[in-house]
Amino acid sequence: MPTHTPEEIERQYNLVKEYHKKYLKKFGVKMPALKNGSGNFTKNALVLVFLSFGYPKTTEITKIELTKFIREFYPDTPDVQQARHLGAQDGWWIVAGGRDNIVVKVKRGNYILYSLERPYPSFKKGHRIAQTDDWEKIKEQYGFRCATCGSREGEPHFHWRATKTLLQKSHKDPNKPLIAGNIIPQCQKCNRADRNRWVYDDKGRVIKLADPNFVKNFDKDVREKIYEILYKEFKGKNPYEK
Ligand SMILES: [Zn+2]
Repeated sequence: MPTHTPEEIERQYNLVKEYHKKYLKKFGVKMPALKNGSGNFTKNALVLVFLSFGYPKTTEITKIELTKFIREFYPDTPDVQQARHLGAQDGWWIVAGGRDNIVVKVKRGNYILYSLERPYPSFKKGHRIAQTDDWEKIKEQYGFRCATCGSREGEPHFHWRATKTLLQKSHKDPNKPLIAGNIIPQCQKCNRADRNRWVYDDKGRVIKLADPNFVKNFDKDVREKIYEILYKEFKGKNPYEK
């Protein structure tokens, strides 16, 4: 037996939609469709509806409760991931326990819809950093902070308090030119010569190796594992001998 009638779900969805239109749309938060092409409720809409029942007095929902609800419509659902994605990625302020307990304390694995009047903290329109070669714009997108360590331009460096932070145009991938899409701001400490060894993402985190020679610095057991991976990939042959 379904716990909620389609009319109840639709009514709750429309309530969320009102809040979205009034408060969240301007921040770039997207309202999921109520139904898909086959006329069934979408999982995203169902999750928002379920978490928002009773708003503004929402309660903490366990993953089991949420999954049970979704299975009324999608019996084969193994594990509901939507709540987490709707939060951090799509901008709905859904607190996922164990991950982001800054504002409210939520048990690991549980969720609570915290607000329909404000977007998820730190959610930025479009989510991605816009590609530009305008240096002032780039710095602004990062709040005038080093993408890697967060030190703020003109202020004491986070790790070296006696050093004044200078922001420098830095390559995400040192093997590519310093053009739009490949520039992140880094402080003079993070933007050092040895950074040419690796590739950074938009968040200033190392994601790849840029200089193969750096593999020589790795521990022997890691080098052995890399050798095993490459040996398998190239079937024991030198890839340069075709
Ligand atoms: Zn830095």
